[in-house]
Amino acid sequence: MIVQAAAARQAGVAGRSRRPDYARAMVEAWKRALILAPHTDDGELGCGGTTARLVEAGCDVRYVAFSIATRSLPPGFEPDILAREVREATAELGIPEANLTVHDFDVRTFPGRRQDILELLVSLWEEWEPDVVFQPSHHDVHQDHQTIAQEGLRAFKRTTILGYEIPWNNFDFAYGAYLALERRHLERKVAALSRYASQKHRRYADPEYLWNLARVHGVNVNREYAECFQVYRIVA
Ligand SMILES: [Zn+2]
Repeated sequence: MIVQAAAARQAGVAGRSRRPDYARAMVEAWKRALILAPHTDDGELGCGGTTARLVEAGCDVRYVAFSIATRSLPPGFEPDILAREVREATAELGIPEANLTVHDFDVRTFPGRRQDILELLVSLWEEWEPDVVFQPSHHDVHQDHQTIAQEGLRAFKRTTILGYEIPWNNFDFAYGAYLALERRHLERKVAALSRYASQKHRRYADPEYLWNLARVHGVNVNREYAECFQVYRIVA
């Protein structure tokens, strides 16, 4: 029985690879991907594995963080520690330093700065026209995340927009897109997040949590690992 099940599984995998995989082709056709991180580390948490997969496939990935959260640091850290940590973390994902932009908006004040943020995003669209944008979801309850989600939708409405999952902030989330990952992609994600010494006290920084979350999503769609996204727009 077990042997039959294994054989059936093998056949299923082989069958899948024989069919044209349009979704995979769409992901691999993305040549420019933009990650919007309200605070440093949001991008790695929400789509670090996917970033590693895209970089591996030859995609040019840019990462834009909007705050180094100077006011939220535990005592004993340099005020700009997160600027250094995000450089190291994004390098772990394979993002070249020239593709990293770190703004310095004060944490928890984004709603009052929405027009400034929108203008930054619109100029990114005009300058670079990414094929896909990863941003927080609209049901993320953090006010800074909400601002980036709302203004991101306005600035990038002519391209594909996916909302990443920050599970403890998402009071509602439609699991519309699963991007499958291999173990090596998750290893990059965990290595990236391990660069944030200043955030080690946070429960989500636990590698076991990161592995488990990706494993649950992967098993749900018959893959090893996955990250989930809310689909806001597909333009193809
Ligand atoms: Zn955040």
